[in-house]
Amino acid sequence: MIPPPDAHVQLVSDDRSCVWHPFTQQQAWAGEEPVIIERGEGTDLFDTTGKRYIDGVSSLWCNVHGHAHPRIDAAVRGQLDKVAHSTMLGLTHPSAIRLARRLVDLAPEGLTRCFYSDSGSTATEIALKMAFQFWHQRGGEDARRTRFISLRDAYHGDTIGSVSVGGIELFHSTYRPLLFETLTAEPGDPKNMQRLFEAHYGEVAAVIMEPLVQGAAGMLVHPPGYLRAVRELCDRHGALLICDEVATGFGRTGKMFACEHEGVAPDLLCVAKGVTGGYLPLAATLATEEIYEGFLGDHAEFRTFFHGHTYTGNPLACAAGLATLDVFEEERTLERLQPKIELLGELLEQVTAMPEVAEVRRRGFMTGIQLTDHRVELRMGHRVAIEARRRGAIVRPLGDTVILMPPLAISVSELRRLVKITSEAIRAAVATVRPAVAA
Ligand SMILES: *Cc1c(COP(=O)(O)O)cnc(C)c1O
Repeated sequence: MIPPPDAHVQLVSDDRSCVWHPFTQQQAWAGEEPVIIERGEGTDLFDTTGKRYIDGVSSLWCNVHGHAHPRIDAAVRGQLDKVAHSTMLGLTHPSAIRLARRLVDLAPEGLTRCFYSDSGSTATEIALKMAFQFWHQRGGEDARRTRFISLRDAYHGDTIGSVSVGGIELFHSTYRPLLFETLTAEPGDPKNMQRLFEAHYGEVAAVIMEPLVQGAAGMLVHPPGYLRAVRELCDRHGALLICDEVATGFGRTGKMFACEHEGVAPDLLCVAKGVTGGYLPLAATLATEEIYEGFLGDHAEFRTFFHGHTYTGNPLACAAGLATLDVFEEERTLERLQPKIELLGELLEQVTAMPEVAEVRRRGFMTGIQLTDHRVELRMGHRVAIEARRRGAIVRPLGDTVILMPPLAISVSELRRLVKITSEAIRAAVATVRPAVAA
């Protein structure tokens, strides 16, 4: 299983000479010893040296039921015996049809149509284009609805459309000249959004937001009632509501979808990350019947939604999605998650009390531990991640916020161990740097 040392050395050397990693300063990466993940088992990952780690961030927020889950593995293998890929353009296939039915049944009321793509970025990009085209095709006064309201510190993906509605300066400001203009609302403040609606009367196509928790902002949690208030504002001003549940969906906040916490049904719902249990790239944009019908017409009317990616609705990914939903039922995942959410809250009380920690933000399993030391050049979050790795856990920071978002399937003892490793890693990382001079 473990490759001989020279094979490991070769992999490290080829990674350094050929691979360009996402969201990574390669100059620093080249100077570090990379962890090369070879396999996964349950909520653990194993590297090429045989070292075991808890997958503390669900392999970037997408694993749900654990790695190498027998049920999901078998579903993907079963699909592989039939066909690995066939197109959704002009054809269809059983796994995509069945998954669409299941997602529509599962999603908040009124979302009746499932449009597939392959990443969170494409799911939001599609929602934006659908909303825009929907109003455009209605014509008359409705064609004036061309603007989007998005939230400060929002994250909806990395393609140009999704970056346009993004609000994270560090990731997005460079591209400003390439982006379309949006209206930025203050998260958690319905009055602020109301003013935007009033100042741009009849011009807003849709509000796009991450419901309840803005993940990439560092787990920014909205005050209760905010989502509901935004829904009401959209209704009052005739705009659509797009909920980006790419991160919050599939149980991460304690319910299947975050929208359920406030009894809200959006007009467009974006899902990705967890939809395949973290197995394969798949996304869906769910739409209401009203939006769907706005695209119907004769060919010559050109009301078609001219959008589709090559691997849209890939059969292997859809099979993984179906099995993921089956496992939710068979293992009563959401029910068994509730006591773990409570335990996580208790465990984090000690972390909150640490002098090295400024604040802990959390909803369900989505956790952001904000460190006290903000000095950019020290990369405190990164130092914590390195210390956590030494102790057997993978965590990935967002700046100086340490993120914890384990798979929903994590056991109680592993959850305890993850929080313990994280607090030890924070203490160790802070101990290695010179103390900040009080201002
Ligand atoms: C991760 C994420 C995306 C982008 O998904 P990709 O699959 O990485 O393109 C979009 N929205 C939210 C809320 C996310 O967390």
